Amino acid sequence: TLSGKCAVITGSNSGIGLGVAREMARAGADVVLNSFTDRDEDHALAAEIAAEFGVEARYIQADMSDAEACRALITTSGRCDILINNAGIQHVAPVDEFPVDKWNAILAINLSSAFHTAAAALPMMRSAGWGRVINIASAHGLTASPYKSAYVAAKHGVVGLTKTLALETAEEPITANAICPGYVLTPLVEAQIPDTMEKYNMGREEVIKKVMLERQPSREFATVEQLGGTAVFLCSDAAAQMTGTTLSVDGGWTAL
Ligand code: NAD
Repeated sequence: TLSGKCAVITGSNSGIGLGVAREMARAGADVVLNSFTDRDEDHALAAEIAAEFGVEARYIQADMSDAEACRALITTSGRCDILINNAGIQHVAPVDEFPVDKWNAILAINLSSAFHTAAAALPMMRSAGWGRVINIASAHGLTASPYKSAYVAAKHGVVGLTKTLALETAEEPITANAICPGYVLTPLVEAQIPDTMEKYNMGREEVIKKVMLERQPSREFATVEQLGGTAVFLCSDAAAQMTGTTLSVDGGWTAL
């Protein structure tokens, strides 16, 4: 059980981040939810988790494209035994048409935020005498696809950052690992469907099976609960000697 531990999950008001937060709370951890918005419904998500699992849950607004805000998220949390870097955005375009502002935003949110939060969290983990850094990378942290230059570059960067964090904490009771999901049906993926339908001139179901899940041999989306379960495993004693590595939850994508 993770009772007494505090997990901070970036980008956790929807999708994988929210699913991981719920599994952390189910395992007994207190949780800090985050996104860049500050709506009643964001805070309500934290209240629901607290009521459902009997843990402390808070929502803290912080924009993960902003270095200072990333660091402030950790200091405002007051405690961070488990850091889950999950915030991420996507944009699909060929390199020669890729908007520079999208490139910069993807690198900032998907990669640099993990550097800033880890820098702020490591001293807290050291003083607590235990810590887990879990970066939600992607199958695109290990392989590439056309039209996703910024995302693929950022996710490969996350895997590299994870290895470096692991080496810098190797002799301490702290581990750093990356989870590499294949396709998980979340708002981020949902938003890619219309563009991909247009690009391939296909209907929704056809684009899902033939294009999106083309590289996922299981032909099934992974679920947010499965990703949460993987994150909980990385916090268990069984995983104490796993560090600096990647765990693929991708239906066989990276075996191809
Ligand atoms: P999502 O859009 O549902 O969630 C993204 C989260 O990040 C949201 O909570 C959003 O509010 C938050 N976010 C976006 N910009 C932010 C910012 N500037 N500051 C703070 N929070 C911000 O998408 P998702 O699919 O759940 O993606 C979560 C992570 O999983 C991402 O890093 C994504 O790259 C990764 N991933 C997703 C899939 C998939 O198939 N869905 C596959 C591999 C990896």
